[in-house]
Amino acid sequence: MRASQVYSLALLCIGVTTLTLSACQPALDAPVPETSAVTAITNVTIVDFDGRQAQLLPGQTVLVEGDRIQAVGSDLAIPAHATEIIGTEQYLLAGFTEMHGHVPPAASFGQLPERYLNDVLFLYVANGVTTVRGMLGYPHQLQLKQDIANGQRLGPTLYLAGPSFSGNSIESVEQATQRVIDQRDEGWDLLKIHPGLTLEQYQALASTAAAADMDFAGHVPAAVGLEQALAAGQRTIDHLDGYLEYVDATQRPITAAEINQLVELSLRHGVTVVPTQALWQTLIGAGNAEALTAYPELALVPPQVRQGWLDFLDNPRTSYFNADTAQIQHNNRQQLLLALVRAGVPMVFGTDAPQLFSVPGYSIHREIATLQQAGFGIDEIIYSATVAAGDYFAEQDHFGRIQPGARADFMLLPSNPLTDASAIERLEGVMLRGQWLDRGTLDTRIAEIQAAYQDTAQN
Ligand SMILES: [Zn+2]
Repeated sequence: MRASQVYSLALLCIGVTTLTLSACQPALDAPVPETSAVTAITNVTIVDFDGRQAQLLPGQTVLVEGDRIQAVGSDLAIPAHATEIIGTEQYLLAGFTEMHGHVPPAASFGQLPERYLNDVLFLYVANGVTTVRGMLGYPHQLQLKQDIANGQRLGPTLYLAGPSFSGNSIESVEQATQRVIDQRDEGWDLLKIHPGLTLEQYQALASTAAAADMDFAGHVPAAVGLEQALAAGQRTIDHLDGYLEYVDATQRPITAAEINQLVELSLRHGVTVVPTQALWQTLIGAGNAEALTAYPELALVPPQVRQGWLDFLDNPRTSYFNADTAQIQHNNRQQLLLALVRAGVPMVFGTDAPQLFSVPGYSIHREIATLQQAGFGIDEIIYSATVAAGDYFAEQDHFGRIQPGARADFMLLPSNPLTDASAIERLEGVMLRGQWLDRGTLDTRIAEIQAAYQDTAQN
């Protein structure tokens, strides 16, 4: 059992390091449109939250200037020079945050097209993902984050974990300690935990991070275990890592008593979870291979990446997948997640894109459907991707709500997402830090990406 767990994590890391390689090049194919001084979205219905309660605010005008929402109200004067977007019978929803995303690294190593990086950034935005917490750092990414913030490259606002702490990258307590200081000084937003750290290395990292006011997040190394990770203050547990292992419920149905134990432990330590349920369902072998291979968005990743994902389903090395126990494990994860969140454990939304069948941006719709299957309402899911993410980054900026002073990151939808989540898939346009991208602009670029990644004889 243990071996297969470790192997699945190793596959995940391989996926991250080999399937997302790309180059950082000037954004020649991603021109940043001119923004007019003021944009007014008029007569629109805003999807808002009163506490955790979703509510609709009809007949609103939203004024955007620069990268900020300047004003929101039902009787605002519209400046004469404003560009008007009429929102009649449409809905305005705050942009989503992908809390466990990946941005391709700088060097292509000749494996993937140089355009891949810009395409990944664009696909997030085209699906209304306006913020990404990047969960595996590479040296060029701090510059990339700056370039996006300065408007020199089109992409979601990035918060970045540095190069990861893992059994491969860390050999001693001293090295773990120094690397925390180094990453803080370099300007990374958080530290990424991968499997393989010893308990001593992990605890040195944790205490240094606390002193340096750095968050650390990600996996739970096997030698550390869930309880020690929570006690040490790991800010998020991603993929619900270590939860089922803690009560040894990966191959049989989890009990109510075990769920209560995990809920109590999580509440006591104030952890936030990033479940990535859809990706994990695929990874543990509980996905539907036929459905996965039919995802239309697979046409939007390079043929090599697509083939790597298809090979994963066929790979004889993954034949340890046991559909019965995989399904039990998935059911346990779904049941546990619902119990955690309903008991008050904060959930933020993440999909681990780009990763096995998790295409940047498009993966949010797969995750929404999986969370709905777990029993979550669409209002709870939207909350986790907007308000909860904004709360998580409250010390850095104001976003995740359509409010005066917030970053102007939102999407215009053709119908009410609270009654039908597919409204999010059919968005009419995206406002990205005050820059309006309409449906036509998005579709043109999506078609261009699809054409670039068509299978050819060489592939
Ligand atoms: Zn990841």
